[in-house]
Amino acid sequence: MNDRPTECPRCAYEEIGRLATSPVPGVWDVLQCERCLYTWRTTEPARRTRRDAYPDGFKLTQADIDQAIEVPAIPPLRSV
Ligand SMILES: [Zn+2]
Repeated sequence: MNDRPTECPRCAYEEIGRLATSPVPGVWDVLQCERCLYTWRTTEPARRTRRDAYPDGFKLTQADIDQAIEVPAIPPLRSV
């Protein structure tokens, strides 16, 4: 039913882990890329689950990941 993908839709990495599976076997899996941590459910549309249909503007390369050193800071708590 759901073919196991061979590459990450976002970064094309070929090591894909499985985080969860449906209570009824074979309905869906939640998969995660072991490089960029992109996570998706196998029942999501092709634009979220297949490299060839994933939007070009959101695709990542190893270079993109290496240069993505800026992690958004958590702002200070607001006083009430
Ligand atoms: Zn990835």
